[in-house]
Amino acid sequence: MAERADVVIIGGGVIGTSVAFHLAKLGMRDLLLLERSHLAAGSTGRSVGIVETTYGTDVNVAMAKIGYEELRRFPEVTGETADFHPRRYVESVDDPKHVWYLEKAREIGTRFGLHQRIVDPREILEVFPEIRVDDMAAGMITEEAGFCDPHSVAAGYAAAAKRLGARIRTNAPVERVLVERGEVAGVRVAGEDVRAPVVVNAAGPWCNELNRPLGFEVPVDLWQRQIFVTTPHPEIPADRPLFIDVTGRFYFRQELDGGFVLGLVEDAAARDLANPETDWGFKAKAVEAAVHRVPKLAETSIANGWSGVVTFTPDQLPVMGPVREVKGLFLANGMSGYGVMISPAVGTILAELIALGTSKTIDASPLALDRFRGGGTPRGAGLWLSSK
Ligand SMILES: Cc1cc2nc3c(=O)[nH]c(=O)nc-3n(C[C@H](O)[C@H](O)[C@H](O)COP(=O)(O)OP(=O)(O)OC[C@H]3O[C@@H](n4cnc5c(N)ncnc54)[C@H](O)[C@@H]3O)c2cc1C
Repeated sequence: MAERADVVIIGGGVIGTSVAFHLAKLGMRDLLLLERSHLAAGSTGRSVGIVETTYGTDVNVAMAKIGYEELRRFPEVTGETADFHPRRYVESVDDPKHVWYLEKAREIGTRFGLHQRIVDPREILEVFPEIRVDDMAAGMITEEAGFCDPHSVAAGYAAAAKRLGARIRTNAPVERVLVERGEVAGVRVAGEDVRAPVVVNAAGPWCNELNRPLGFEVPVDLWQRQIFVTTPHPEIPADRPLFIDVTGRFYFRQELDGGFVLGLVEDAAARDLANPETDWGFKAKAVEAAVHRVPKLAETSIANGWSGVVTFTPDQLPVMGPVREVKGLFLANGMSGYGVMISPAVGTILAELIALGTSKTIDASPLALDRFRGGGTPRGAGLWLSSK
């Protein structure tokens, strides 16, 4: 007889494991998570782990705040570690025409109870003396931020879900979602059928490999992102704020030893999703951006580098919830470069939609796939002022 489960979750990144844990927490225990490779094998294992709460739409801030609260309290919630380290967060804009964005983010953040202030760039020097501010138009300092270890988050959610009864299976590639009379019937995994009335697609950059045969796709661009890490600078303490320049699309955080983890965002189409190769030619650009912003970094060298794939929707909001084509199929796709920090919210929303039929914690309607249907391209959320 074919194996069965109440819910099959495809993908063992932060999203699939969070969905499994939050479903189990709501009392659904007959869960099977199937991961093709090992946990955190995809984008999750390549992530920088920044957790912050400054966004320009309500639904972003709602998700980010839940993310921050749960990742900060991860051991209490799951019994596991997220290796979370609180840090202040500085966000800057270089162009005066983008100051409205910080004002909007602060207006939303204030309503959500966040501690944020828009500052004259020179005030940033009080919390970050080594940073260059003379070309910033404005900055915002947010208290609710930090960084975590994304691999620990995925492993932690999986371990906690397992303790609550979920089955977590690695080396288990799902070949397709099985559909009978317009309803989910299960999945085919490594040549075997598993029967299930509900399937969650949390396959990250591979999401459309499973969606396409069902007659629809999530609109996503797959971008390859490069990360480089500097050696520590002996005069820069390791507790400096996280930093994102939203106009310049450049960001960094520090490692615990004080080295800077640098991300310069350019949209290069991803080629190899499973093993994206580091583009060492990009190093000079990243170093230039870093030395411009923190001149002392000219006295460090690059110690490490890697790359990974991000899955961006046109409006930089995830796609979550049921789809009209197939009853019983739920999507958790298109995390648009900030899936780790919102993974607690994504898991909560999906678990509520599946177990309760409605998302009571957050209004998930702006996240439905249907927003891309019927013409027009919604824009204006997410990490960056423009994604292209
Ligand atoms: C360089 C870089 C830096 C980043 N920095 C940050 C950051 O600072 N903060 C932040 O919040 N986010 C960051 N992100 C984004 C974040 O990593 C992603 O949004 C998040 O990891 C997405 O998680 P996921 O579970 O949806 O996808 P993934 O982690 O890719 O997981 C999908 C999983 O599904 C599995 N899978 C796929 N197809 C199948 C199948 N058919 N059968 C079984 N299993 C399958 C894959 O093997 C994979 O393990 C960064 C990403 C990159 C690349």
